[in-house]
Amino acid sequence: MTEDFEAPKEELTEVHCPNCSHKLYFIEIMTSIAFEKQILIQTYFCKNCLFKKNEVTQIERGEPVRESILIRNRDDLRVVVYRSPEARILIPEIGAEVDPGEISDGEVTTVEGIVTRIWERMYSAMFDFEGTPEQEVSAKKKMESIRKWEIFPFTLIIEDVSGLSRIQNSRTSIEKIDVGSV
Ligand SMILES: [Zn+2]
Repeated sequence: MTEDFEAPKEELTEVHCPNCSHKLYFIEIMTSIAFEKQILIQTYFCKNCLFKKNEVTQIERGEPVRESILIRNRDDLRVVVYRSPEARILIPEIGAEVDPGEISDGEVTTVEGIVTRIWERMYSAMFDFEGTPEQEVSAKKKMESIRKWEIFPFTLIIEDVSGLSRIQNSRTSIEKIDVGSV
């Protein structure tokens, strides 16, 4: 298992940014992830407004896995995560469960990026909150503690039937799982 991303290939394209119409850069990365599987990450990137579109191609499929890591402090938020389109994300300490495809089609992100997206999802869910006023108060409290990062330590768990997701850190524990238990 390698920790290194191959040097990305980058080239200027004739494709225009949907936001600001500057020309997009095309970046291609081939990398190995859990259990020696290869994925191809292709990104269109605008250097002007930072618009970004990722496409991830699975070269091979892996075995279903559960990966988990204890996030102890702010430094750990920088741990790089590849989240495949089939990954289910769980953070038991804040009651977060994100099903495959709810956040995006596969992406390379960080623990901070994942928690931030979970927070944004909770925030937009507040606009049509359907629980009791008490539940609304406790949901808002939870969001406030996430926003202030008063949630350490917490466990990031990724369950992935495709086996392609990867938490890139030596403290990550990886176990194979039965498809039936996911
Ligand atoms: Zn742009």
